[in-house]
Amino acid sequence: MITFYPGPSKLDERLPQWFQEGVENGYISANHRSDFFMQQYGEICDLLKEVFHVPDEYSIYFVSSATECWEIIGQSFNQLSFAHLYNGAFGRKWASTNSALKNHVKEYSYDFKDIPNAAPIKDADAICLTHNETSNGTKLPDNFIQEMRDGNPQSLIFVDATSSMGGVMLPWLAADIWYASLQKCFGLPAGMALLICSPEAIDRANNGPHYNQIANLQRNYELRQTTHTPNTLNIFFLWRMLQDHQGLQLISEKIRTRAWHLYNGFKEFQNMEVLIKDKEIRSDTVLSISILPELLDSLFEFMDAKEIVLGKGYSELKSGTFRIANFPAIKRREYDSLFHNIREWQDKL
Ligand SMILES: *Cc1c(COP(=O)(O)O)cnc(C)c1O
Repeated sequence: MITFYPGPSKLDERLPQWFQEGVENGYISANHRSDFFMQQYGEICDLLKEVFHVPDEYSIYFVSSATECWEIIGQSFNQLSFAHLYNGAFGRKWASTNSALKNHVKEYSYDFKDIPNAAPIKDADAICLTHNETSNGTKLPDNFIQEMRDGNPQSLIFVDATSSMGGVMLPWLAADIWYASLQKCFGLPAGMALLICSPEAIDRANNGPHYNQIANLQRNYELRQTTHTPNTLNIFFLWRMLQDHQGLQLISEKIRTRAWHLYNGFKEFQNMEVLIKDKEIRSDTVLSISILPELLDSLFEFMDAKEIVLGKGYSELKSGTFRIANFPAIKRREYDSLFHNIREWQDKL
């Protein structure tokens, strides 16, 4: 089976080997207040700083999902006013989660084919952005978060990077919170997310009652422990992955080059086209391809028989698009096979 689903996505091929190692050495069953665990947590932080270039002063927490990050942020900053800028389903869900918590939320939605505009956002205590909108295959332009920062020096900036962290370089200092779950670009199993916070965000977080408040995550982080028994399996996998990592700079260049090849590759097919034409906003890690709606089922059936899983279109794009992940765990030969099979499907039409 080959999967191009943009999450849960193809798992890193080294997982079976890591799993065996983690079980045999007792790492995965280590208690989360043990010396081993604290040392492992510390090394993961050091590696994220070294390999991903996370700034030294940022704190790194292990939580359970990106959805949980929406709640953590809403609860930890409920004294602040929020501006949510989004163009798709995940950004919208974040805003509605935050509204459901009865926070002061202003929404700025825009069309996914447009370039986002930072100008209307003024005087928000916190600005919420989605770095890569997985639902429609768009990203924020490269300098956008920094421009938002420069235009709003008093505001905190929070970024959902669920389908880009681990695949492309991120402008860490331009934002105060970054988070991502691991079942997308990291190629790890579902059920864990990283939440990465600047000292400013930690200073301005309140001291509310929830176990997963940022204040509480930070108190545990200082001991390199967690608030509860965490996903020790995924923490171990993350540690192993980072130990053998080639460096995000290099991976990022490979992902961007491969995105270019994939986008170009789709030009050869008559019945489909790249949904997002503008290079400034088309995603490097999740490609949306539009197809004649009457051909969609036929394509999926054909691929199903070949044991190839494509990503379904999401939400309002369900009927005329499909999605292809461009995540580091997916191999070039798998894309070759995808294109080969689309050609075969097209020839049979
Ligand atoms: C998948 C996704 C989420 C939700 O992730 P969970 O781990 O299921 O909570 C949130 N935001 C974006 C951009 C996503 O792609």
